[in-house]
Amino acid sequence: MVSRIIPVAPFDLVIFGATGDLAQRKILPALFRRFCAGQIPDGTRITGCARSELSDAQFRALLNTALSEAQDEPRPDDRDLVAFLQIISYVPLDAVGETGWAALCDYLAGSSGERVRVFYFSVGPGLFGPLAERLHSYDLTTEATRIVVEKPFGHDLASARDLNRTLASHFDESQIYRIDHYLGKETVQNLMAVRFGNMLFEPLWNSQYVDHIQITVAETVGVAGREDYYERSGAMRDMMQNHLMQLLCLIAMEPPAKFDPDAVRDEKLKVIRALDPVEPYHIVRGQYACPPGQVGDDLTYRETVKNQRSSTESYIAFKAHISNWRWAGTPFYLRTGKRLKARSSVINVLFKDAPHSIFGEEAGRHANHLKIRLQPNEGITLSVTIKEPGPGGMRLMDVPLDMSFAEALGSNGGDRADAYERLIMDVVRGNQTLFMRGDEVEAAWGWTDPIIAGWQARGDVPKPYESGSTGPGDADLLMRRDQREWRGINP
Ligand code: NAP
Repeated sequence: MVSRIIPVAPFDLVIFGATGDLAQRKILPALFRRFCAGQIPDGTRITGCARSELSDAQFRALLNTALSEAQDEPRPDDRDLVAFLQIISYVPLDAVGETGWAALCDYLAGSSGERVRVFYFSVGPGLFGPLAERLHSYDLTTEATRIVVEKPFGHDLASARDLNRTLASHFDESQIYRIDHYLGKETVQNLMAVRFGNMLFEPLWNSQYVDHIQITVAETVGVAGREDYYERSGAMRDMMQNHLMQLLCLIAMEPPAKFDPDAVRDEKLKVIRALDPVEPYHIVRGQYACPPGQVGDDLTYRETVKNQRSSTESYIAFKAHISNWRWAGTPFYLRTGKRLKARSSVINVLFKDAPHSIFGEEAGRHANHLKIRLQPNEGITLSVTIKEPGPGGMRLMDVPLDMSFAEALGSNGGDRADAYERLIMDVVRGNQTLFMRGDEVEAAWGWTDPIIAGWQARGDVPKPYESGSTGPGDADLLMRRDQREWRGINP
């Protein structure tokens, strides 16, 4: 199946932090793939900015290497590569000084006010404010200007509010795109299509029929390379407050009146506001802690961050409740961690048992289960109960109705845009549906701040867990106390 290309007019895209990891590994390769797909029209200009003194040719050479490394397969066509590099330029610039800004003004001068102008802030959060201020003071913003802001958006409610205030003093909310790449994933959008495009699920999507919901985002990588940031942040701030909260919102929200940015974001916001505070005994924090050499040449979390007394969590699990008519009584179990058994992002919706089994106890108890895989191998599986084949009487078994998107939508991965491709093109098109609004981010911090303050006040220390495991044993206990268990973490 070949994706439909929605044409856009030529635009300008300026990437601050263009020499950095995210720009080189994700943003620019995503733009290149859209270019190869024919979605970047003639006349578009892409400009990299950072402090490094590079010429256009040097930046293109850097990008050439990054693109060759970032493409999985097939290898990029040389003609595409050459043509793409021609629309790329570079302006050395300091976000906190005045160097380079006049050159950027010259570069952008002359384009009409209607031409879409995107400024992508792919820099540390401390530079978001200075960049916004300079874009304003150098008069670089037009009616058609949009800014893209990377995570983390603040460290707590107070800093998120400050940041929102700073951005709001220079940009209208309709111009601010707070990116969470999880929301650009095909399956995340499919979650909405499955829920709101089918009669099958919506009548069952409530506490009367759903026993509980599990959201798991497991990573095999540790924190090496991001030690300082991670040590200050931990799993709660790095993953839970944004990615998992967003997934929770999409799975739990009421149907919006239409698929429109504010309608969707209003419904997500209502979910966050309906979340109960989490009881301390419903929270499990962990830290990967196997001796060196036990798994490859891995280091413990504390060795990696070079702090033997660290109490930052590399794993967190908790049980949350949403106090509204739809979900009262249905727990949501969320967990995320580093150095776990497999890389896997999955939402499991576990339905209740049938109220009465006409087949008797010996047939076994079976409940439906909807599994939504976000990565890897995006897809959706619904388990249904059937009779076990053969003459052995009426025994029941579960079989999966499996929809792998790779199989259903064609194996040509090139036809399916990745999250950054989709989100960047949404910015160019001016569609904010998959981006977080300022009040949503603040509400999420408003809910997580007291949880963090609680464990800090109690002096809780994260429980050790072995690298390559499913996390600390206490997380299993959290489920067992409710006569439930986590679904496996499988690749
Ligand atoms: P990075 O590798 O450290 O890159 C930072 C970039 O900012 C470099 O290009 C750097 O180039 C530039 N820079 C630093 N100070 C500057 C200044 N004063 N003026 C202008 N440019 C400056 O960081 P990153 O990993 O790409 O992350 C960028 C942002 O994305 C961060 O907010 C991060 O939290 C977020 N993010 C990253 C990832 C990821 O996978 N990397 C994922 C999600 C979110 P010069 O030193 O040449 O100036």
